[in-house]
Amino acid sequence: MRVRAPGRVNLIGEHTDYNDGFVLPVAIDREIRLHAQPRADHRCLLYSETLDEQIEIDLTRLQESKGEPLSCTGWARYVAGVAVMLMRHTGRLLTGIEGVISSTLPTGSGLSSSAALEALFATLWNHLDQLQLDGWTLAQLCQQAEHEYAGVHCGIMDQAASLLAQRGSALFLDTRTLQTRHVPLPSDWLIVVADTGKPRALSGSEYNQRRAECQQAVEQLQAVLGQPIGALRDVSAEVASLYLPLLSEPSRRRARHVISENARVLAFLDALARADAHAVRHLMRASHASLRDDYEVSCAELDQMVAACLEAPGCVGVRLTGAGFGGACVALVERARLDPFLKEADAAYRAQSDYTPQFLVCESVEGASVMPQA
Ligand code: ADP
Ligand code: MG
Repeated sequence: MRVRAPGRVNLIGEHTDYNDGFVLPVAIDREIRLHAQPRADHRCLLYSETLDEQIEIDLTRLQESKGEPLSCTGWARYVAGVAVMLMRHTGRLLTGIEGVISSTLPTGSGLSSSAALEALFATLWNHLDQLQLDGWTLAQLCQQAEHEYAGVHCGIMDQAASLLAQRGSALFLDTRTLQTRHVPLPSDWLIVVADTGKPRALSGSEYNQRRAECQQAVEQLQAVLGQPIGALRDVSAEVASLYLPLLSEPSRRRARHVISENARVLAFLDALARADAHAVRHLMRASHASLRDDYEVSCAELDQMVAACLEAPGCVGVRLTGAGFGGACVALVERARLDPFLKEADAAYRAQSDYTPQFLVCESVEGASVMPQA
């Protein structure tokens, strides 16, 4: 059997997911694939063409370990993590497999290849062992695998996008209620991931620091308001304009980013529904400025890439995407003007930066699936 799982890019709603806020990712046509056969026993023998590396996992031993993270390393952690979570949730021992993994999804460049790998194996075993788990349950088990087995305390966005997305749409996700909505994308716009070529630096420690600063902002707001608030998600624009000036820095600006970014996601949904290029451009530009000035997660290269794309023909909107400090921008581009857009954005960025950019032109695709027999 053959299974596929896509990567994702977030259109808007950055650094909102750990504040109970809104995000809007798109699953893209860069994906990981597995061609596998079931085995008669409970061993997994898997070869990744991407990494030229073979792994072996014994599901019986994993089950007996009662989910204690084993001494798995490298990509085996994601496969073992998903297997443990599925077995813990269903109480069943999964079928062994052997197979080969191939991929068109770059790893470690912010397109969430780790979530795609998790979604791939969750989809495989859900089908093979007829577990009958829905997409949300699979997404939460994959997130748990990433927490416990990869040690990355991510939100639910990446796994949800890789499992639940629909072709031609972005996935609006309320990270508090887990409510989702498929939001059609105008068919004459393409998604372009514009990688600055600058590796994401320092993002781990800065990421944890931003999370802590958001928590401090919540505590300070509670003190000035004299009442509890659950998260920055709960702060209205009116409350923000009255009370944020009373907060100390940098909490004030961090909170202002999160509160304004949530409002921008909701406005973006309206703009998409109207295919309002002017509003989309404005909202993405405001999102980038807020990430740069209030949240302070941009860098010279990301700013240069945004400027290069904005001036190129056919650019509807552009902003940094992902955690920041390097990595990529996401642009929406008029399909009919893709070629001049790529040519001019590439030239304008190279004229300013020592890094070599890379442009990935993407379509939005459906979430992970078992492929029909060839
Ligand atoms: P990102 O999720 O942003 O791509 P991560 O560091 O979270 O970056 O995950 C990358 C890891 O996922 C890789 O180091 C590898 O362990 C695993 N991985 C991704 N793609 C593959 C693949 N095709 N084959 C094997 N492992 C993969
Ligand atoms: Mg990852």
